[in-house]
Amino acid sequence: MVIGAHVDVGLEFQNAALCRDIIEHCADAILILSADQRITYINKAAEIMFGRPIEASIGKPLDILIPAGFKARHRALFDGFRDSSEMAKFMGRRGVDILGLRADGTEFPVSISILKSLSGADAKLVAIVRDVSEHKKLEGDLRKLASTDSLTGILNRRTFLQRTEEECARSLRHGNSLSLAMVDIDHFKRINDRFGHQVGDQAIRHVVGIVVSGLRKPDVLGRWGGEEFTVILPETDEKAAVITMERLRQRFEDTAFVHEASLNEPINLTVSIGVVEFRPGQETADDLINRADRALYAAKHAGRNKVCSATD
Ligand code: GH3
Ligand code: MG
Ligand code: MG
Repeated sequence: MVIGAHVDVGLEFQNAALCRDIIEHCADAILILSADQRITYINKAAEIMFGRPIEASIGKPLDILIPAGFKARHRALFDGFRDSSEMAKFMGRRGVDILGLRADGTEFPVSISILKSLSGADAKLVAIVRDVSEHKKLEGDLRKLASTDSLTGILNRRTFLQRTEEECARSLRHGNSLSLAMVDIDHFKRINDRFGHQVGDQAIRHVVGIVVSGLRKPDVLGRWGGEEFTVILPETDEKAAVITMERLRQRFEDTAFVHEASLNEPINLTVSIGVVEFRPGQETADDLINRADRALYAAKHAGRNKVCSATD
């Protein structure tokens, strides 16, 4: 192999049968389109991808492959590209979903390369379409894996901190109140010691279930550490946050944790909670969390099964 040498592949392109085989059997969908957005050719992969045989596609407007909500925008983008000086373009930027429409009405995410060919009498546009469903699903799974805690499914510490920073910035910008609570299970070591780590894990999930059921939709829950949880309460001042957390504390008092090993002896789990209200312009998200931690410490110090606020 000669690296860097100029190789003339022109001869291969004169081999029409070879070019045809490549296009017909390419794993990506290849569509040839007229300047007025009609389909003049689709390859086998496109037939399978869009669930439409070639006979049902030729001569039809490209629109039939685009979901209703995107048709107008897609038409304009197509015309814009056709009339521009650009010869090729890739559509599939990160964070922007481009969807294709199957014959059965289902939609699927795609990435598209479009290019222009002025070789014949009429300008032709070629779209090379790749089904990225698998890729998108994997991306979603990875994002979930990286942002949540595997035991409980709630936000992990890193993502919770990120969300806290965002909420603090929003509070600073718009002047809305914002509170944060830190919840820690009382004497949790005893449960592990008595019933084992697995029951301890079940107890942690039980606690998360109770906390979730006591929160509103905009509230954000995270697992800060082992059996320590953090809650952001947007649009909530300290007084309202204390009331919410007091209700939550009471709910723990009223709900026993039952599992196989303790059927005859339900476990009364209690929690201690520290509550603080954000001071916009005076502190960072880290400071806010540290103050909540100190309020939690005060609740423990006051005998546990208590809610303490920064002003207590
Ligand atoms: P306190 O009332 O002072 O909070 O007493 P505590 O026993 O709950 O003390 P602390 O909060 O310091 O103890 C946390 C314990 O939680 C220690 C650790 O063994 C246990 N733990 C941390 N993460 C997990 C977990 O994922 N699963 C289980 N089963 N136990 C955990
Ligand atoms: Mg504890
Ligand atoms: Mg703890």
